[in-house]
Amino acid sequence: MHEFSFKDNELCCEDIRLKDIAKEIETPFYLYSYKTLIDHYRKLKTAFRSINPLICFSVKSNSNIAVLKALVKNGAGLDIVSGGELYRARIAGVDPKKVVYAGAGKKSREIEDAIRFGMLFFNVESEEELEEIQKIASLLKKKVNVAIRINPDVMPKTHDYIATGKGETKFGLDFETVHKIFNSKWRYPNVNLRGVHIHIGSQILSASPFENAIKKVLEFLKRYKISIDYFNIGGGLGIIYSIENPQTAKGFAKKILPLLKHSKLKIILEPGRFISGNSGILVTKVVYTKRTPRKKFIIVDIGMNDLIRPSLYEAYHKIVPVSVSEGSSYTSEKVDVVGPICESGDFLGKDRLLPALVKGDLLAVMGAGAYGFTMSSNYNSRPRPAEVMVINKRFYVVRKSETYRDLVRGESIPKVLR
Ligand SMILES: *Cc1c(COP(=O)(O)O)cnc(C)c1O
Repeated sequence: MHEFSFKDNELCCEDIRLKDIAKEIETPFYLYSYKTLIDHYRKLKTAFRSINPLICFSVKSNSNIAVLKALVKNGAGLDIVSGGELYRARIAGVDPKKVVYAGAGKKSREIEDAIRFGMLFFNVESEEELEEIQKIASLLKKKVNVAIRINPDVMPKTHDYIATGKGETKFGLDFETVHKIFNSKWRYPNVNLRGVHIHIGSQILSASPFENAIKKVLEFLKRYKISIDYFNIGGGLGIIYSIENPQTAKGFAKKILPLLKHSKLKIILEPGRFISGNSGILVTKVVYTKRTPRKKFIIVDIGMNDLIRPSLYEAYHKIVPVSVSEGSSYTSEKVDVVGPICESGDFLGKDRLLPALVKGDLLAVMGAGAYGFTMSSNYNSRPRPAEVMVINKRFYVVRKSETYRDLVRGESIPKVLR
């Protein structure tokens, strides 16, 4: 469920009419609902109450510092994948002991910063990375917690680009190598090898790939008598974009809890999309409409630089008019909703049924709270849109839209060219 719904033919976010927000804030802008964000976090927390896991929100799904702060304030930890995300986590005031750090290519500087920060776990993805962490921790005279990321070689049903738990992806290590690492603990005196980690992919709609992966890992630990105290089962829970029928937090917990309950392991979850996905939308305006012999196009003021998911993953996002005028009905003519960017892959939705639209009409792209703004770019020298959050019936700009000046920040023309 989410807090974006129609009241008297007007799309609202927590009772505020989008039309009214758009009077004060120029389109395009991302719009987040605080209530939805926290509701989704609480749903997972409640579902897993009996084992009291640490829930680390995946910062890469939505890294706005107001979003992070909202979740941190409500008890969440954070799952980071870079030094930049560590920087954001710090600003959000998260307890370092609730931060875990994954990623296959952590650089020395990032590792050093993270060790000084004192976070809970490095989720390590290679032997060389483990050696690097050992080296830096030893120089800093620190002992750090490490969980080894296992690639359990399972095949969740999702888009190839976001299936991370298959054997041939770059993520994690195979069981054999993990076994070898646990057998050579002595090589890493500044490392506490205290955990294992999996993250098998994203937008996964059923619990069974998770069950398979968890079973595989638990059997592995038992078979080789590997003793650890943390098991990070990753994120990846799918959400509804259109007609998906994903597991609920409760349904997911019902399948997963029996596997974990008797393991005595402390469990970490890393949900991103599940919490942020339906907590945000992208509001846009119709710039032009045009008809060609083959198609009708609605050209809007957002493009693949603002929301790349349709172009990159052929992802479906529902597109709805912000105001439905009395008596307007959905035309039987299908339209392509496209952006202004010079690429034929620049579309938001293809063959959609929408009411007749004219220049200036507002549209909302739904389910844009995860991997929306965070994957945006300045392609075609387009300033990134603003981010706005509704909290308790008021709205706040939590990131200003970029300016042309922002676009060239840091650039310079060498003297020889002048
Ligand atoms: C991206 C990522 C997540 C979050 O994935 P969602 O599908 O958004 O839940 C969790 N853990 C790791 C290691 C990730 O890379």
